[in-house]
Amino acid sequence: MTEKKFRLPLAVFTLTFVLLAFVQLMIPRPMILAERFINGGGWAEILLISIYGAFVIYKMQDPVNVPKWRKITWTIFSIVFFTQLFIGLVGYDKFLMTGKLHLPIPMMIIGGPLYRGQLSVMTILFISTVVLTGPAWCSQLCYFGAFDNIASGGKTSREILKYKGAIKSTILLLVITMALVLRWLNVPGIISTYIALAFGITGIIIMILFSMKSKKMVHCVMYCPVGTVVNLFKHINPFRMYIDKSCTLCMNCTKFCKYDALNPIDIKNSKPSITCTLCGDCLAGCHHNSIKYKYFSLRPELARNLYLILTISLHASCIALARI
Ligand code: SF4
Ligand code: SF4
Ligand code: SF4
Repeated sequence: MTEKKFRLPLAVFTLTFVLLAFVQLMIPRPMILAERFINGGGWAEILLISIYGAFVIYKMQDPVNVPKWRKITWTIFSIVFFTQLFIGLVGYDKFLMTGKLHLPIPMMIIGGPLYRGQLSVMTILFISTVVLTGPAWCSQLCYFGAFDNIASGGKTSREILKYKGAIKSTILLLVITMALVLRWLNVPGIISTYIALAFGITGIIIMILFSMKSKKMVHCVMYCPVGTVVNLFKHINPFRMYIDKSCTLCMNCTKFCKYDALNPIDIKNSKPSITCTLCGDCLAGCHHNSIKYKYFSLRPELARNLYLILTISLHASCIALARI
């Protein structure tokens, strides 16, 4: 039993180490932050981060611990990101991956490339994670969503977010149209930056006014256009979640889903709705073990383990990299 508990940590340790070693060896510019300060320091950081990844999965392998540890680790992720960005902003550009500053607002992942007519590093990173892990970007890899997770507090309310499909599709269309129009009109970068900034500040206001009140991640579920893109394209990755026949319709799991993906109607349909990010919080609320991960024909426990290994290794690896 004890030996079993260490299998997943060993897998995450190994995968994180291999991923970061690849970055360290194959990319000429030092991408591991410590390497920029001490020659060979990158290897010490890779070792530490791999141990961190192993610790995270050690804690999260029991589904009951997922809501607590996902919140802690996602918050750490965000703190590391914004601390590095802040230090970069005050002039220490060693902390920045490209040496150039980008607005840390997820909307820029879509709007930026449309406005500039070229892909950014962040957009490539985002597309890669959606291909590898489906919606995990929106459960523990995004620097901004962690705030909405905090704002929505502990257990969620049973309030259903009405018209979310229509609202989020409209906002996505508006962002795409706005970026293309700004480009077409040759609007200067500084004005476009202010528009993006206003969009980001509105997002924070939504967290304060609506997520805190409804105990659901209203910003991520209804406002952020990147979340909508994730909802639309997450199925290019084969991981899924479903509810099996043992479900008693007790509805306890609805109190655990901050993404408004487990309303009574979703439970009767035996699967979470489109806003599900496969975060796994709801497993902690189901005492009948009726909510399951699916990956082709793998057994549900193996599918979950595989998902945890991939997402936590990516989460840990991203922490080690210098910021954009
Ligand atoms: S919905 Fe937007 S802010 Fe929320 S986690 Fe996803 S990308 Fe980040
Ligand atoms: S349904 Fe479960 S896995 Fe999906 S977002 Fe909600 S809590 Fe997370
Ligand atoms: S907590 Fe489990 S048994 Fe109850 S409704 Fe949710 S999936 Fe069904």
